[in-house]
Amino acid sequence: MTKHVPDLTTRNCRKCGNSQMVSLTRQRDFLSVKSVFKCPKCAHKVVLASKITGRQGGGALGVSLAVGGLATLMLSYILWGHQNEYSAIEAIKTLFLFVLFTSPIWWDLFQIQRYPVTGKREKVSTDRHNEADPQLQDPLQKGISILDGINASKGFFGILIAVTLFLGIAALIGWINFTYFDDNLFG
Ligand SMILES: [Zn+2]
Repeated sequence: MTKHVPDLTTRNCRKCGNSQMVSLTRQRDFLSVKSVFKCPKCAHKVVLASKITGRQGGGALGVSLAVGGLATLMLSYILWGHQNEYSAIEAIKTLFLFVLFTSPIWWDLFQIQRYPVTGKREKVSTDRHNEADPQLQDPLQKGISILDGINASKGFFGILIAVTLFLGIAALIGWINFTYFDDNLFG
C-alpha cells in the first residue's frame, strides 16, 4: 500500500491571488479523502477533492458517477421507462435525475477548477498521512482509503463490473433454479 500524502500541487488562491496555496493536511469526507489547502499569505482555506486524472486519486468520483448513473437508469425505468421510447420530457427528467444524483461530483469539479494548479512542491517529512493510513482504520475507512489510491476510471468501471457480475450470477442462479429444480429451489 502506498502512503497517502497530501496533494503535492500548489494552487492559486482565489482570495488574494497568491500562487502558492499548499495542502498540508487531508480530511475524510463522506466517501473520499480530501486535501485541505491553505493560503500562506491570507490564510484562506479550501477543501478539494483528489484530482481525477492521473494514476492516483479520484476513485470516489468514479464510483459516485457509476452509482449515480445506475441509480438514474433504474429510477427512470421504474418511473417512466415502460414504453419503448422516451419522450423529450422524459429524457429531460432523466437528465435532471442524473445531475441530481451526481451533483456532489459537479460541485467537486467546480471547486477544483476554481483553484488552478500553479506547480508542484517538494514532499516534506511533516506531511501527514495517518488520516488515510489503511492499517489504522476500520473497514469503511479502509475502503475509502483504497478508493483514494485508485483513479476515477478504475472506480467507475469497478462498479460497473461488480454490478454486471452480480446480475450475471443472479441470472445464472435463476436459470439453474428454473432448469434443474423446476423453480422450486427457493421454496
Ligand atoms: Zn490568499
